[in-house]
Amino acid sequence: MRKPSSAKFGTEIECPACEGTGFPTVVQPAEPGRKIYPAPCKKCLGKGRLARELK
Ligand SMILES: [Zn+2]
Repeated sequence: MRKPSSAKFGTEIECPACEGTGFPTVVQPAEPGRKIYPAPCKKCLGKGRLARELK
């Protein structure tokens, strides 16, 4: 008997807040030479993944 292993959807899921990028989408200013460095996603702490909640 074998269980199908789903490594992709094991214990972590893609963070819905940042879509797995680890950084929330920010609006870049129109000013040339300036760039916003977004803080890491608060939900996943920049990892882009969240531990799946087992209910
Ligand atoms: Zn996130």
